[in-house]
Amino acid sequence: MKKQIFTSIVMVVVILSACNMSNKEQTKVENPSKTKELNFLLEQFADLKIMRYQVPGFDSLTLDQKKLVYYLSQAALWGRDIIFDQNYKYNLKIRKTLEAIYKNYKGDRESEDFKNFVVYLKRVWFSNGIHHHYSMDKFTPGFSPAYFNDLIKNSKGAEFPLEQNQTLDEFIPQISSIIFDPSIAPKRVSLDPTRDLIKNSACNFYDGVNETEAENFYNKLKDTNDAEPVSYGLNSKLVRENGVIKEEIYKIGGLYSAPLEKIVFWLEKAQNVAENDQQKEVIGKLIDFYQTGDLKIYDDFNIAWVKDLDSRVDFVNGFTEVYGDPLGLKATWESVVNFKDIEATRRTEIISKNAQWFEDHSPTDPRFKKKEVKGVSAKVITVAQLGGDCYPSTPIGINLPNADWIRKEYGSKSVTMENITYAYDQAALGNGFLEEFCYSPEEIELSKKYGSLAGNLHTDLHECLGHGSGQLLPGTSPDALKNYSSVLEEARADLFALYYLMDDKMVELKIMPSLDVAKAEYNGYIRNGLMTQLTRIELGKNIEQAHMRNRQLIAKWCFKKGSEDNVIEKVVRGGKTYIKINDYNKLRDLFGELLAEVQRIKSEGDYEAGKALVETYGVIVDSDLHKEVKTRFEKLNIAPYGGFVNPVFELTEENGSITDIKIVYPENYTEQMMHYSTYYLAL
Ligand code: ZN
Repeated sequence: MKKQIFTSIVMVVVILSACNMSNKEQTKVENPSKTKELNFLLEQFADLKIMRYQVPGFDSLTLDQKKLVYYLSQAALWGRDIIFDQNYKYNLKIRKTLEAIYKNYKGDRESEDFKNFVVYLKRVWFSNGIHHHYSMDKFTPGFSPAYFNDLIKNSKGAEFPLEQNQTLDEFIPQISSIIFDPSIAPKRVSLDPTRDLIKNSACNFYDGVNETEAENFYNKLKDTNDAEPVSYGLNSKLVRENGVIKEEIYKIGGLYSAPLEKIVFWLEKAQNVAENDQQKEVIGKLIDFYQTGDLKIYDDFNIAWVKDLDSRVDFVNGFTEVYGDPLGLKATWESVVNFKDIEATRRTEIISKNAQWFEDHSPTDPRFKKKEVKGVSAKVITVAQLGGDCYPSTPIGINLPNADWIRKEYGSKSVTMENITYAYDQAALGNGFLEEFCYSPEEIELSKKYGSLAGNLHTDLHECLGHGSGQLLPGTSPDALKNYSSVLEEARADLFALYYLMDDKMVELKIMPSLDVAKAEYNGYIRNGLMTQLTRIELGKNIEQAHMRNRQLIAKWCFKKGSEDNVIEKVVRGGKTYIKINDYNKLRDLFGELLAEVQRIKSEGDYEAGKALVETYGVIVDSDLHKEVKTRFEKLNIAPYGGFVNPVFELTEENGSITDIKIVYPENYTEQMMHYSTYYLAL
């Protein structure tokens, strides 16, 4: 499972905003003039911004650890073509065509049309295909089919990905219709349950098979008595061949053999410099898995990986998340190479160690509390390379493995990727968002000073403790809240975090300098929930997304319940609406009250009460305020989605062996993409 950054600056200062707030970096935030050693925001186009992230601490790794990071990073980059192909079967063909034009087009490269062509190419790189990475809708180019035809014809010397015996005149209409025809592959993943999920999804996990056939195929494999089931279908494509439905397995000698061979080549090098035997075993099992495609070995790999808690360097590499498959079976390939941020991890360790204290002191009914909170393994990491489905758009937190039975028996590893959120925060500095939406200069100051730390602590409390807190009454079904369960679950975890942020215990544990940090979070959270998150909703629509419903639910409930005491005030000044918190302590009490109620709803499985809460407070949008907020936001010209270029490793070699590795930070998104497409060309 992964945690995605929510939206541009809206979240940066508000909800997730986890960023590396060791004391050193916090000083940096307070002195913006000193943070300019690296330009975090590189460029913006369409609804996207491209940033880069720093890798602090890399120089302090040992030479072997540096090599390990480098080898694992090579393995991360070699999977890039896999994700393009998984997202849609024509993505690689389209990418290669666009890149051939980009390299060879001899016409006017300054025209509006050509600029729009480049934007389209950049979007295809960003999404690893022709569908928007977030909405999953096919995006339309800002140029015409006729111009596209002209581009191809005027790219002399270009090598287009023609099929055997295909002429250019046959190729052009074929590729054109895929790009321009809105009826072809309109959505990468369709979740409309009234239509065949597979037939209406463009992703490349099934061929010639419909939803029912796929379900039947996998239902037959599943043994409901198996306490340790493998993740059926995870690493394969389901196809019909000569009338027979069968799996094509991703493995060496099978599907995606070429990139997997490269990945294994680099994993073997990594294995030779592993930090310890446990890590050696982890990498070895992954290699075995890529060689055999055996899902039992995949489980063994995950178990070994969960047990590896001592290594400084760690990684994700493989067919991991299933969001890209409408049936939730098949995993996209991804990689994240990282090492532990020892100083920042102390913070999550303190929180984990005090888990029982937090549980015991929570404002919920004692019957709904856990008598014994199990240890939570959480760490803060520094990302050194992103690959596959995690590049260039990346999560900010990951919790793996996904197999339920492994999580239950062996636990899971939860990580916060703080150099990534730090980059988000830095890139957002000075974009005018706070100035536009904060009520007062003091609020802006507080947010700049503590917003990042507050966001980090919120994430820590939410992830490490919030979700794990509480218990169901005996006999309550975990599925009782049905379609409202994820909204209420997120609300529960958020409320747990919000409630404890303003507890003296946080200062006592020395993870927070003063309760001003909590004030910064309360300001941001309520402002976002009541107002600024509406920037992401289309005019005329209500809120659908679970996290957004949860945030509005909490903010609106507290606004209403606190109205008599004027706890939260809406102030209109010069035609603009602002949110002002008048009483932080009372607001904290309201968070506690709502936490107790949401916990009761969950523990008792009170569906009707849960439904009423969500529908009353979480869904409906105030249309006048919505319009106002959208207009104010548009003027700021902030791209709602972001992604990153990767750092590059510079090797020093003597007599053929590596003697040192340094990190450099490239500035050019296009160059990195063109380099990857040329060098890591596997399919
Ligand atoms: Zn959550």
